[in-house]
Amino acid sequence: MSLSVADDGSSATDSGPPSPGSPKPVHGAPRGTWPQVGTYLFILVPFLALIAAVPFAWGWGLGWVDIGLAAFFYTFTCLGVTVGFHRYFTHGAFKAPRAVRVGLAIVGSMALQGPIMHWVADHRRHHAFADRAGDPHSPWAFGTSPAALVKGFWHAHMGWVFDRNLTNQERFAPDLIADDDIRRVHRQFGLWTAVTLLAPAVLGGLITWSWWGAVTAFFWAGLVRVSFLHHVTWSVNSICHMVGERPFKSRDKATNFWPLAVLSMGEAWHNLHHADPTCARHGVRRFEIDISARTIWIMEKLGWVTDVRWPTPQRLAKLKA
Ligand SMILES: [Zn+2]
Ligand SMILES: [Zn+2]
Repeated sequence: MSLSVADDGSSATDSGPPSPGSPKPVHGAPRGTWPQVGTYLFILVPFLALIAAVPFAWGWGLGWVDIGLAAFFYTFTCLGVTVGFHRYFTHGAFKAPRAVRVGLAIVGSMALQGPIMHWVADHRRHHAFADRAGDPHSPWAFGTSPAALVKGFWHAHMGWVFDRNLTNQERFAPDLIADDDIRRVHRQFGLWTAVTLLAPAVLGGLITWSWWGAVTAFFWAGLVRVSFLHHVTWSVNSICHMVGERPFKSRDKATNFWPLAVLSMGEAWHNLHHADPTCARHGVRRFEIDISARTIWIMEKLGWVTDVRWPTPQRLAKLKA
C-alpha cells in the first residue's frame, strides 16, 4: 500500500502533496458561503420534492396502506444494513449463530445497497483509510476549496457508487469469502432484489384487494422506500464526515449529526463509531437515540446474539476528545 499521509492524521488531500517534516493542520479554510448554500440545497431540495409529492398523490396514488408498508420495509431493511451488514459483518460487534447470520445477510441485501461482500469490503476500506487517499467515499477527496468540497460532497454521497473499480474482496473480506452461506447470499442478490420490490406489491394488493393497491405499494414501499434509505445511508458517508460535532477522538473527520439519528437508526453518531468501530452502540451519550443498538439489545435478551461489545464508562472516558 502506498499512502502519502502524515502520522498525525492530516491528509495529503488537504492541499496537494505533503512536504516532509511539516505536518499540515487537520482543518483548512472554512467553506465559503455559496458552497455552503449549495450543500444545503443538495440535501434539502430532493427531500422537499418527495414531501411535496405526498399531498399531490394522496387519496388516489398514496394511502395509509402504502405508508404503513413503506415504514415497515424501511425499518426492516435499514436494520438489516445497520445491525447486519455494518455492526455485525463489517465490525464484528457481536457474535451470532448460523441462522441469525444468514438472516441478517438476507435482510441487509434487501436494502439494495449492493451484494454483501461488496458492501463489507467497501466499508472496511473506508475505515482503513478514512478521509485519506484510498477511502472509497471521503468528501475531502478533492481538497478543501469551496469547489472541491461541492465535488467531494457529491462524490461521498453517491458519485463513488458509480466507480467501476471495485474494492478488493480478497484483501478486505476474506472471512466472508471463506463462508459458503455468505457466498450463497451474495450470489442471490438478484433474488433478494426481486423479493424486496415485489413483497410490498403483493402485500399492498392483498390488503386492498386491488391491482391498483399493488401498483401504489410497489411505488411507495418498493421504489421510494429503497431510494429514501439509499440517501439516508449515503448521508452518513457525506454529511457525517463534514457537518456536526466531534466529541470523541477519531483519526478522521467523522461527525455526530443529530438530525439524522432516528432515520439512520443510530448510524449518524458517526464520530463515536469511527473512534470505536467495533462498539455495538454508536449513540453512547445521554439522549443519543440509537435504534440499532436497542435492536441488538433485544436480540441479546432473546438469546439470538452473544458477546455483544457494549461500551464501558472507562473506555468512553478514554475516547473523549
Ligand atoms: Zn465514516
Ligand atoms: Zn463502520
